[in-house]
Amino acid sequence: MNATHDPALRSWVESANDPASQFPIQNLPLGVFRRKGAKEAPRGGVAIGDQILDLAAVGLKTGPNLNQLAAAGRKSWRELRKLLSQGLSDSRNAKRLSRYLVPMNKAELFLPTAIGDYSDFYTGIHHAVTVGRIFRPDNPLLPNYHWVPIGYHGRASSVVVSGTPVTRPNGQTKAPDDAVPAFGPSRRLDFELELGLVIGPGNALGKPVSIKRALDHVFGVVLLNDWSARDIQAWEYQPLGPFLAKSFATTISPWVVTMEALEPFRCPAFERSGDQPTPLPYLYDEADQREGGFAIEMQMHLRSARMRAQKLPAQRLTCSNFRHSFWTAAQIVTHQASNGCNLRPGDLLGSGTISGPTPDALGSMLELTLAGKAPIALPGGETRVFIEDGDEVIQRSRCAREGFASIGFGEAAGVVKPAPR
Ligand code: CA
Repeated sequence: MNATHDPALRSWVESANDPASQFPIQNLPLGVFRRKGAKEAPRGGVAIGDQILDLAAVGLKTGPNLNQLAAAGRKSWRELRKLLSQGLSDSRNAKRLSRYLVPMNKAELFLPTAIGDYSDFYTGIHHAVTVGRIFRPDNPLLPNYHWVPIGYHGRASSVVVSGTPVTRPNGQTKAPDDAVPAFGPSRRLDFELELGLVIGPGNALGKPVSIKRALDHVFGVVLLNDWSARDIQAWEYQPLGPFLAKSFATTISPWVVTMEALEPFRCPAFERSGDQPTPLPYLYDEADQREGGFAIEMQMHLRSARMRAQKLPAQRLTCSNFRHSFWTAAQIVTHQASNGCNLRPGDLLGSGTISGPTPDALGSMLELTLAGKAPIALPGGETRVFIEDGDEVIQRSRCAREGFASIGFGEAAGVVKPAPR
């Protein structure tokens, strides 16, 4: 850690000094924005309090995405963070830099990177066990789980930034008692509480990434809701895994919280019990085991159309933590590249649904409602077993640790629109 993490550091952007702010000067997450309604090109910015500072203020012209910056690597990210931290803390810069500030509520935010490829993992062991138990009561966890960071290739084209409406998918579904499947709107629309790793420099085709170097290839972290149609999924997933039940939309937050900003919130890797094997050597590193985890609180909230009309606040459905991930960020990256597959700047790796060990920390409606058997009560008298049209699903996240400034991630939110007829 360094001077940019000093909890005593304050900014001349006053709103950043509010203890409730998600974007104090110790955070400095990066995104892509333009002024609402202005005929101007999207460009890189940094969130500070309730403002965005155009990166042009420090001489950086990113273009319409952060891919070049992601490709530049850790040394460049570190220099940029130092420059931004100094520029935004020393009040002698206020006059020179304030003309580059745009109020966040007057800005439109975009996907932070052009995402070439998106994979989704399954690192939440409590999610894997709970969901496994619903489908296979006597054999919840398949034997490969403790050895392989399970994942699949997702669809990059339908990754959308927070605020983008999500259209309920049509698809094939077949209830157990039906003789034949039918095509129509999913009736079991769900969210999945995940984080996304945004890839930095990446690796050349045929050249794996060693676990010791894996985090050099992670630009930062975003919130990720892997929307899922459970009824479509149940019918289509065998034998090749998730397909159209997942690829209709994935919502991410606009701000990339850098690995350097997350440094104070590192924690040990998931503690394996006696019957869980030590990872194979290519996935094992002492330092990664000691401090390769990240304590990131992860929450999902819901606000229905009726709650919005009645001006009721969103209801928190769950609160989990990334420390419950069975595999570390470094293990995910190393495993994905272990066969020589190349990762490119701006690629996105989803963690998988991160459920905690307790009932208030489950990362999907499937788990929270026992696959639709236990409805959740909402303020205003409604109930939910899955997500309905008009519902807004809002992911929020925060890191807090005694002796350090708390940092937030913004939001990954989307309102569900009816399926096309
Ligand atoms: Ca997922």
